Amino acid sequence: MKFGVEGRSRKVGELSKRIRHRSESVELSRAFGRVLAQPLRADQDQPPFARSTRDGFACRAAEASAHGTLRIAGSTHAGEAPAGPLPPSSAWEIMTGAPVPAGANAVVMLEHVENTGGNVRLLPPRLIQAGDNIVAQGAQARAGDELLSAGVVLGAAQIALAASCGCNPVDVSIRPRVAILTTGDELVPIDTTPGPGQIRNSNALMLAALVENAGGEPWVLPTAADTAKALDDSLSEAADADLLLISGGVSAGKFDLVEPALARIGARFHFTGVRIQPGKPLVFGELPGRDENSGASTHASTLPFFGLPGNPISSAATFLLFAAPVLSALAGSRESGPRFALARLVREAGTKGKSDLTRFLPARCDFSPPSGQLPHVETVPWHGSGDLAAFARSNCFLVVPESAGLLEAGSTVRMLLF
Ligand code: AMP
Ligand code: MG
Repeated sequence: MKFGVEGRSRKVGELSKRIRHRSESVELSRAFGRVLAQPLRADQDQPPFARSTRDGFACRAAEASAHGTLRIAGSTHAGEAPAGPLPPSSAWEIMTGAPVPAGANAVVMLEHVENTGGNVRLLPPRLIQAGDNIVAQGAQARAGDELLSAGVVLGAAQIALAASCGCNPVDVSIRPRVAILTTGDELVPIDTTPGPGQIRNSNALMLAALVENAGGEPWVLPTAADTAKALDDSLSEAADADLLLISGGVSAGKFDLVEPALARIGARFHFTGVRIQPGKPLVFGELPGRDENSGASTHASTLPFFGLPGNPISSAATFLLFAAPVLSALAGSRESGPRFALARLVREAGTKGKSDLTRFLPARCDFSPPSGQLPHVETVPWHGSGDLAAFARSNCFLVVPESAGLLEAGSTVRMLLF
């Protein structure tokens, strides 16, 4: 079965609907990047009192706009309890963030009045309207309002909002445990000098970094050799994971033994190839889970898996396009799609002639173009999908649609961000 890039969303979406999320309570100070498990509600009105947004004088707008002299009747600074009431024909000195005294309906800015010791006057021809420079009590939210729904990822702004509501500790989804199984007789650990024909295992840590970035907890398993026995043993070790990533061994070669090993333990395959390059041999499916009580194998709870092609750039691209959305869904997030953006292509890219594969070329995007322009992007010269040096110089993939051949300089193109 071969899926186009768009086909993924259906299969991945079907899986996400069946996921049950578990949550835990964490200190808000440790919750950055976590996924909210319960809606966040306002514990009180926001703002909790009518608040001045300026240093100046609280007044009645109609009186101030008549440009008469107003007597300064009192003063409130930020942190003081609401004061007042404001007597007629008066103004009340007020600082930014302070509660507006009862009776006032606007704040004139310090810079806009004539202050004659004890009295102020709004300088003509300036006028002021009711509500100016005041945020009314509850204007942002009323006590009990839902401010964030479950499934939102806690970034800096969401942490600030939770802090303002005193939401500490906060309920977040438990990070899915993602088993990372690298396969290949040629792989040696990173602190070993490779012998003839060997290479260091770079995918394990690359995938761990991608997993962490997508909200998962990486669990790197020992590398499996290219034998049926080694794969069977490693797969049984991974059974407790929430998601399984296998790198390598899914192409058509003589030692590509991953698919048969998965089939031996009852895998259901959703697809065994995608119309993309690099990454065509990608495999996606589910393994039977274990019944929580009896320990028996069951399809009621399953272990989703991806067989990622071993070439590092293929592994990264297929992870971003296919595995990251499943991982986000497992993490309880509603923000689960791969991230695309538009840019202006600086130099022509792609190759002449159409392909039936959507291509993902390592590219470098300048996200700070001259004002008013789209980001600028150009491909990074590379020697195929094992070229880690080129990959490390890139910060996105340029998407070449399957119907396109060469993309012209100056055209608007799509990027897959990472
Ligand atoms: P495979 O998908 O197993 O056929 O591997 C394709 C290419 O990726 C081969 O050149 C492998 O040596 C390389 N490769 C496979 N696994 C890894 C890994 N964990 N780290 C770096 N390169 C790898
Ligand atoms: Mg291999």
